[in-house]
Amino acid sequence: MAQENLNPFEIAQRQFDTAAEKLGLDDGMREVLRYPKRQLVVSVPTLMDDGSVRVFQGYRVQHNVARGPAKGGIRYHPKVTIDEVKALASWMTWKCATVNIPYGGGKGGVTCDPKKMSRAELERMTRRYASEISIIIGPDRDIPAPDVYTDSQTMAWIMDTYSMTRGYSALGVVTGKPLELGGSAGRREATARGALFCIREACQVMKKPLRGATAAVQGFGNAGAIAARLLHDDGARVVAVSDSKGGLYSSRGLDIPRVLEHKENTGSVVGFKGAERVTNDELLETRCDILVPAALENQITLRNASRVRARIVAEAANGPTTPGADRVLHERGSFVIPDILCNAGGVTVSYFEWAQNLQGFFWDEFEVNKQLERFMKRAFHEVLETSRKHNVDMRVAAYVLAVARVAEATRVRGLFP
Ligand code: NAD
Repeated sequence: MAQENLNPFEIAQRQFDTAAEKLGLDDGMREVLRYPKRQLVVSVPTLMDDGSVRVFQGYRVQHNVARGPAKGGIRYHPKVTIDEVKALASWMTWKCATVNIPYGGGKGGVTCDPKKMSRAELERMTRRYASEISIIIGPDRDIPAPDVYTDSQTMAWIMDTYSMTRGYSALGVVTGKPLELGGSAGRREATARGALFCIREACQVMKKPLRGATAAVQGFGNAGAIAARLLHDDGARVVAVSDSKGGLYSSRGLDIPRVLEHKENTGSVVGFKGAERVTNDELLETRCDILVPAALENQITLRNASRVRARIVAEAANGPTTPGADRVLHERGSFVIPDILCNAGGVTVSYFEWAQNLQGFFWDEFEVNKQLERFMKRAFHEVLETSRKHNVDMRVAAYVLAVARVAEATRVRGLFP
């Protein structure tokens, strides 16, 4: 089998090219939309607890701001590269356009191993990184949020660092903040809840009731663990879950609230009593109705796509499926809810959080979830309609919808100077 290209930015560009071709965009517009607007690479010197100084590499990429400020998370992971951040930033551009919220796309990351750092080291690294990127972020310019191995505490440090340099409290500079600091009700669950709204719609398309359906979830963090809980609460039988240390399987269905407790107490799902141990590879091939990849990129590839048995693949993670695997899944009749639609609940409630911060007026969780459902259902059906109109799969349809919106905004703005 030919070696598959797993470079995330080249994958993102191929996905864009397919949509540009369908839309018949001219060459100039394609060039404008293909590349990031701005890329900042920073060195992040950090005092470690043993008195030594380490310099981490950090990035912030703004892919496109035609429709509004750049928006996107910050990832801490040993494998973060500039191409990964560029891909994630461009996916944010298309995601914000898919759900039609007034943002462009951005993303940031620091190449580090947060599991091997103390809280004090993480705070010092975060504050220095925030200070280095503060020259391009801001409530009207570029608004970070949590991503893999960053959380509301990370956002609080960034908000505080940015505010100290400005001399006032700038709540709207980041989203995914703690509630005490202007965070939004429902933001923690938003990515998973948005995915659940999409899964409910997909079940109707596939004529498969969610109640009693079987599900497997890869990744047990913000996106995955909460998706597992919401699926469980909706009456689905979650038969497999996993995290970076391995996975669990039970044909009778896992007691998700107890698995959550186990993860809370031990740091992993592994070791949970009353379930078989499976690897992450086995989890992806589990016999189930709904597969939710909620960890990292390039999990479903040409190597394993033909063994994926789920009828619905709900991409809570960004970029979990390669273009080659996508083709295989489509040919086998799986319904793939693409990442730029499926996990857009996070950025949608981030948008609500930002709007609440700018207004200084806060909504309750009922209101947040109601609006989230409205945005996600509307986007799902617009993508479905586009897929039927152009006779393409849901991913190509989402890109066609999103690229058309960004291209039109770019066209009416005109080319400066
Ligand atoms: P997180 O840090 O909260 O959790 C990551 C989870 O993935 C952990 O359980 C970790 O153990 C697991 N994991 C890491 N490496 C793994 C591997 N090789 N195999 C299996 N599991 C592995 O991160 P998150 O915020 O849940 O992000 C997960 C995915 O969802 C990412 O692709 C992210 O970009 C995407 N996403 C997150 C949000 C958000 O609001 N947090 C929004 C949209 C998309």
